[in-house]
Amino acid sequence: MGRFDEWPTDREVTLAKAQAFIENPDMIGEYFLGRYTLLTTSGTTGRRGIFVIDDRTMAVVTAMMLRWIGDLLSPGDFLKIIACRGRMAMVMATGGHFASAVAAARLKRRLGDHVEVLSVHSPMPELVARLNRFRPALFTPYASMAALLANEQEAGRLHINPVLVALSAEGLPEGEYERIARAFGAKVGNSYAATECMFFSGNCDHGWLHVNSDWVAFEPVDADYQPVAPGEESHTVLISNLANRVQPILRYDLGDSVLQRPDPCPCGNPLPAIRVQGRSADVLTFRTSGGDVRVPPLALTQPIETVRGVTLFQLAQSEPERLELRLRIAPMTNADTVWREAEAGLRKVLAENGLEHVVVERGGEPPEPGRGGKFREVIPLSRACT
Ligand SMILES: [Zn+2]
Repeated sequence: MGRFDEWPTDREVTLAKAQAFIENPDMIGEYFLGRYTLLTTSGTTGRRGIFVIDDRTMAVVTAMMLRWIGDLLSPGDFLKIIACRGRMAMVMATGGHFASAVAAARLKRRLGDHVEVLSVHSPMPELVARLNRFRPALFTPYASMAALLANEQEAGRLHINPVLVALSAEGLPEGEYERIARAFGAKVGNSYAATECMFFSGNCDHGWLHVNSDWVAFEPVDADYQPVAPGEESHTVLISNLANRVQPILRYDLGDSVLQRPDPCPCGNPLPAIRVQGRSADVLTFRTSGGDVRVPPLALTQPIETVRGVTLFQLAQSEPERLELRLRIAPMTNADTVWREAEAGLRKVLAENGLEHVVVERGGEPPEPGRGGKFREVIPLSRACT
């Protein structure tokens, strides 16, 4: 990001223009300079990334998604989707130029009433009521949100029958995918991708992620960036996006350890099959008099990352009913104002979830990086204690 202006192959693209565009929420889903899609990330390496994407890439994203869904669903599944008039519900972080929000805005414009966009910030009873009314055939929540909604479905408060639940953004503990599939009586799709390469991979029926290696070069490597053979866990993985020409991404370090299957996957898909190690959603669990309340990480991180002046943050559950907020604040910013705004946003989300009793305290330490240099934004209390 520090040398943004030297990077795009189209000299009209500059950081100043891109920043002005993404600071305007009215432009979500609109074209930047009349021809590009602009996306931002929350910045797990300490800096918000701005990505410029050409239409060729968007076409590859669509093609890879259709190929993936085509492999997962049967002809009968497609008939059911048509019978439900293709109704699609998305649950996502709203209010920023995030990949899912931009996709939702575009779909909504094209498909109108066939698409229902729900916010991850909505209280659970409201989400349940709206989903019951809408009855989606296709459902695309964040993975941790899907786990919470599966609880609602199991409890009988939610009663929807989607054909496909396609999860995004996070990994879940093994076993959760099957539970979600059982709860909804649906196929569960899960993908592993990044804003740097949105079409990276999609799962198969045998629990492996197939890398779309016809459009992305991927290299599992060790800590010295030397190649790692299939069958061995890598330290990280480098990816080169072969579709996007306006802002080339070459050998980008994803920061996750992967294991590539050495033999052909029994599903018959010839694309490389991988598993991502140690990737699981950081759902926080709090005790209340009415039972445990589980809050997905995105609901908590959104109000913090949208505060101007926060360059990096980390939210750690230090005790069952205590959260420690660690911030790194931009220079020349009034630190107290930033703290107050971030805390207020966080308390609002807690209150909406009936968690007024949870203590929020300012952490004395700055955020600490984890393995691979990435910052984990939410750190739950160790699972043994909850
Ligand atoms: Zn497979």
